[in-house]
This record gives sequence, C-alpha cells and structure tokens, in this order.
Amino acid sequence: MVTILNASTLEWVHNDREEARVKSSNKLNTLLGGRRETPLSPTTLSRSFLALFRKYQYTYPVTEVQGDGGHHPVIRSSVTSAKLGGARGSRHSISDSIDQTSETSSPKSTPRSRTYSSNQAKTTTSNENTGLVGLRNIGNTCFMNSVLQCLSNTRSVLEYVISNEYANHINTSTSSMNGALIKAFAIVLAELWKKEDDDDDSYSSSAVNPTALKSQIQKFAPRFMGYNQQDAQEFLRYLLEGLHEDVNRIAVKPRPLEHDISDDLSDSEKAMESWKRYLRRDDSKIVDLFVGQLKSTLQCTVCGHCSVTFDPFWDLSLPIPPSSKSNVKLQHCLDLFGKEEILDGDEKPTCSKCQTRRKCTKKFTIHKFPQILVLHLKRFSPGERFRKLDASVDFPLTELDMSAYTSPGIKPSPCSYQLYGVINHSGSAYSGHYTASCRHPFSANWHEYNDSRISNLTAQRVVSSEAYLLFYELETNEARL
Ligand SMILES: [Zn+2]
Repeated sequence: MVTILNASTLEWVHNDREEARVKSSNKLNTLLGGRRETPLSPTTLSRSFLALFRKYQYTYPVTEVQGDGGHHPVIRSSVTSAKLGGARGSRHSISDSIDQTSETSSPKSTPRSRTYSSNQAKTTTSNENTGLVGLRNIGNTCFMNSVLQCLSNTRSVLEYVISNEYANHINTSTSSMNGALIKAFAIVLAELWKKEDDDDDSYSSSAVNPTALKSQIQKFAPRFMGYNQQDAQEFLRYLLEGLHEDVNRIAVKPRPLEHDISDDLSDSEKAMESWKRYLRRDDSKIVDLFVGQLKSTLQCTVCGHCSVTFDPFWDLSLPIPPSSKSNVKLQHCLDLFGKEEILDGDEKPTCSKCQTRRKCTKKFTIHKFPQILVLHLKRFSPGERFRKLDASVDFPLTELDMSAYTSPGIKPSPCSYQLYGVINHSGSAYSGHYTASCRHPFSANWHEYNDSRISNLTAQRVVSSEAYLLFYELETNEARL
C-alpha cells in the first residue's frame, strides 16, 4: 500500500480498501484453486464469474495476484487541463540539448521484452499467450481500439473486470448507464482474453468487433457518435468516467458542499478535506486506480500570501518544450509542467489578503500519486487545433521517478513508475492513425496493436516520436525492496 498522505484521518479509506482487496483477492484465488488466507463459503462465489470462467477457461497466474496497492482516489480537474493548457510557451526553451538517442537512453532493463519466435512462444504458459487479439476497425475507430488495448493490458482493470468483481458494484441509481457500459466493456475484454487453442500460436485469428461497446459509449457520450477520427485522450477520459459511474460506490449522490474549505486549515488538512469531498460523490475502483491529487499554489508577489487548492486529476497534460531539433526528455516536459508560472497583466488573480488583483506566481505539485499515471503529451495545441508537434520525447520504460514533482512538506513515499502502455499517433492532425504499444501483463513482452493486427515489439521500439499517451503503473513496494 502506498500513500503520500500521512494522515490518520484517511486511514479508514485505506483500511476499507485493503479489506475489500483481500476479500476480492481471496475470492479470485479460491476460484483459481490458489492460496487464500481465509476459507470462503462457495455461496460467496460469484456464479456469473464461474460461468464466464468455465466458458472461456480463463487462465490467471494466481501467485501473482496483487492488490490495487495505490488506493488513490482522485478526480479530474478542469483547473488541471485548463491551466496546463496555457503552460506551454516559448519562454521555456530547453537549453541543454540531448545528444543521446532514444535507443541508448531509454530502456534500462529489457531482459524480457525482446521479440520471441514462435518456438519461444510455445514454451510460455498459456496465460502469456492470451490477450493477443486485435480489434476491428469499424470506421475510423483506431482511437478507440488503441485506448481499449491499453486498458485491456492494465492488469488491475483486467482483473477487476474478468473476475467479475465489477458486477458487485454496478450502480443502478446514479449511473445513467445502469451498468450497460461496463458490461459491454467486460464482454470485449472477455473476448480479448479468451483462451486460444494451445496449438494456435498465431496472434489471433479473429479480431474482436467492438461495435456493441461503441454504441454504449456513444449513448453515454454522444460526441463519439458517427465515424469521425477522435482524440484518444478525450476518449479515454470519457470512457473512464463512464466506467467509473457504472461502478460508483455512491448510491445516492449528496449535493456538493457549498462552503469553501477553510483557509485556516493546514495544507495537509485541506488536502484531506478536498479528497473526502471528492469521495462523497465519486468513489469507485476506477477512481482508486486512476485518480491522483494535484496541489496548486498561488502566491501573491506583494504580500506573500499563499492560496492553496487541491484538485483531483485523471491524467496530466504535459507541454512539450519547443526544441524540435533535438530530442526532448520526458523529464523536461514534467519540469515544464511543474515550473512556476507568473500570472500578470490580464491574468492577475485577486489576492484574498490584499483584497485586490496582484501579480502572483502559480505552481503545480503532485500531492497524491495515482496507481495508474496517464501522461498526455500535448502534441495538439488547443489554440492551433490543426498543428501537431512531432518532437521526439524520450521517456523511461522503468523507474520513472516522480519525486521531484511531489508537494513539498509531505512525507516522501515511493513514486517510481513503470511503463506498460503507449498510445501512438502517426500522421498529421488532419488525418492520423492511432496504434497502441502494450507490455503484456503476464509475459512482460511488448506488442503493437494496430486495429486487428498485432506484432511483436522490441522494448527499444516502444519509444518513438509518435507517442501521445503514456500509461505508467506505480512500481510496487515489493519490487522496490
Ligand atoms: Zn497579497
């Protein structure tokens, strides 16, 4: 369990989740004939899971079942995106150019990520060969297919859905979808992870048709109707929000609290209060996995007064420094994201102490790290919709250390991430194509998912100038010790 909030008042959240995690983990282990900590009565087993399990003969590596580790509920913040939207600017030029190529600087350890021949494939266990199924392109739907493949390779999402645990959380009171969206999502994942015949080592035979899922998505978010190319990041947000609503643990949404959080509270008390307010209305497994908490500090340059707010985020939109001729490192994008910004002129905020508009500085830090960290490289400028930045951004496959972007004053805790998915965009902003590169959750081999086609990928080829969305998972304590 990893948390960067050092606060006993949040413990109940963690304890609760831990209990739920142990229960669900036991349940899964029991079903799979593996170890468990306490005996469970067969009546507690989900019938529908058993049915699915028998139907598709799911194969899961029981000994590797892990908890959700993070317990980081969080939210999306309009502040986040809007703010970050303005953060890119020519003043942030990167002076130290990088002469390393992505080949030499990216993969620190890639022992298991080389391509394997069909002979090698035969020696792997069957669960390592499942999930290698493509998705049909049903008309400019590569944006959807690449997002689905990244979620399908998000191990905690996969296990939550395939184990049928989600079925216990279907929200039929506040979700406009009544569970229809996550059910359609579960059917696609079940098809993708259906066990293939043992002697069939071709990557799949028949691609899965996502039409039924698409029609549920467009009921939830009508903007995705039709067959136009869409932005994968926007789509990911809508899809996660829809899935979250379908399994929101909040059966009756209380009205949002109208009073502001008191300025008399300490930062850490404010952070907790913000978090509790978020969880009052939005609390799901999807939130546990994807949502982090961002701290925004606004400081008056005249009186020094600090105004601090905490907002949930589902992903971080990172500006790309305008040094197109050389490679840019992900760290430079993160630095730009965390760089202090000056708000002056028309942007001057009102200082609550001076009671007037003042020149202020603004800075973002991460107060709570999500288990799954989605980084969005801002290749498409909101102002110039049809311009694409195709700078090559070099990002690490392992040990992405986020500690430099942690809020000051909080107890240091592990915030090292491992890459497992990339959504790539090739072509121009007018007409482009999306593919996904994913690290298989059981074999750790990388594959490229290009609609219905799947191919092996060496770890060295994961980093490219086409990377658009990066999916990182918090490295577990066990792995770090
Ligand atoms: Zn002031």
